[in-house]
Amino acid sequence: MNALAELMPGTSQIRELRGQLRHDVSMAEYVSWRAGGRAEMMYEPADSEDLVCFLQQLPLETPVYWLGLGSNLLVRDGGLSGVVIRTHGALRELRLEQMKDGQGSVYAEAGVALPKVARYCASHDLTGAEFMAGIPGTVGGALAMNAGCYGGETWRVTEQVMTVDKTGQVRMRKQSEFHIGYREVEAKCREQQEWFLGAYFLLPVGDGRISRAKITELLRSRVASQPLGQANAGSVFRNPEGDHAARLIEACGLKGKQLGGAQISMKHANFIVNIGQATASEIEELMTQVKEIVAQQTGIHLVHEVRIIGERTGVSV
Ligand SMILES: Cc1cc2nc3c(=O)[nH]c(=O)nc-3n(C[C@H](O)[C@H](O)[C@H](O)COP(=O)(O)OP(=O)(O)OC[C@H]3O[C@@H](n4cnc5c(N)ncnc54)[C@H](O)[C@@H]3O)c2cc1C
Repeated sequence: MNALAELMPGTSQIRELRGQLRHDVSMAEYVSWRAGGRAEMMYEPADSEDLVCFLQQLPLETPVYWLGLGSNLLVRDGGLSGVVIRTHGALRELRLEQMKDGQGSVYAEAGVALPKVARYCASHDLTGAEFMAGIPGTVGGALAMNAGCYGGETWRVTEQVMTVDKTGQVRMRKQSEFHIGYREVEAKCREQQEWFLGAYFLLPVGDGRISRAKITELLRSRVASQPLGQANAGSVFRNPEGDHAARLIEACGLKGKQLGGAQISMKHANFIVNIGQATASEIEELMTQVKEIVAQQTGIHLVHEVRIIGERTGVSV
C-alpha cells in the first residue's frame, strides 16, 4: 500500500508538512498571461501525500484555489484571499501501470505537464494522447477543463481519476461518475467539491513513430497559427455551436484591437495577448467589449473559456 492509499477513507493521521507555504505571492508569475493580482497564500506541496495532509489540517473556512500551469486563468488585480495550491513540480508522478489486451494504462499526477504525458505515451507505443503535446497545461487543469484539440479530448482517454476533497479525503472515481461536456466537467454526485490528484489514461497500443510524427506536425501547425511568443491564455472564448469564435471576432474587425497592454492577437483572433504591462482588468474589459461587439454585429453571445477568479480593484479601466 502506498502512502496515499493509507490516507483513503477511514484513516486519520496528522503528519508534519513537508511543502512550502508562502504569503502574499504575485500570481502574475504563475499564470501564462503574466498579469493579475496577488494570492494571500500559496502552498507548494512536497508530493500528493503531503498535499492531503495539508488539506486535512487546513481550517475548513479557508478558501482553496487550485493552480496548474496557469494557462487558462485570469486572476483579477485585487487578488485572492485564501490559499492557492500549486501542483506543477509537486504532483509529478508519471508511470505505466499495465499493458493488457492491446491497451496500456498510464497514471499521471495532476501536476505533470500535458506535453510530457504525450511524449511518454508515444515512447511506450500508446496512441491517442498526441493532442496533449500542444496544450501548455497540467493533467489537473486538463481534467478540470476537459482540454482538447485536433479531435482529441482529455476525458475521452481518461478511465478513472483520483480526487481529494477539502477535508483531505481521497477517492477513486470512474469516468462514468462525471458529466463531461465541451470544456467542462462536473461530478454527477457532488456532496462537496473535489479536485484532481491524478488520472489513469487508457490508450490503445500503436506505433510510437507515428505518434511522434503526429506530435511534430501538431506543434508545427501551432507555431504557425498561434502567437506563442507573446503572453496569452490560449483561446479566450468557447467556439459556439457550428462556428468558431476566432472567425466571428475577426469578421467583426476586432483583430489588433487594444486596451492598455491587452490586445486581440493579430495572428489568432480568439487570443488576447499581453503586449506589455497589461492588467487583469484591461484583459477582462477587452473580453467584455469583444462579447458586446460580437453580440451586436452577429447576434451570437460568446462565452469565455478562461477561468476568472479573484477580486476586482474598484479602479475602472
Ligand atoms: C498557447 C496556449 C494554447 C492552448 N491551447 C489549448 C487547446 O488547444 N485546447 C484546450 O483545451 N486548451 C488550450 N489552452 C488552455 C489551457 O492550456 C488548458 O485549459 C489547460 O488544460 C489548463 O491547464 P493548467 O494546468 O494551465 O490549468 P490552470 O490554468 O492552472 O487552471 C485552469 C482551471 O483548472 C483548475 N485546476 C487546475 N488544476 C486542478 C486540479 N488538480 N484539480 C481541479 N481543478 C484544477 C483551476 O482551478 C482552474 O479553474 C491553451 C493555452 C495556451 C496558453
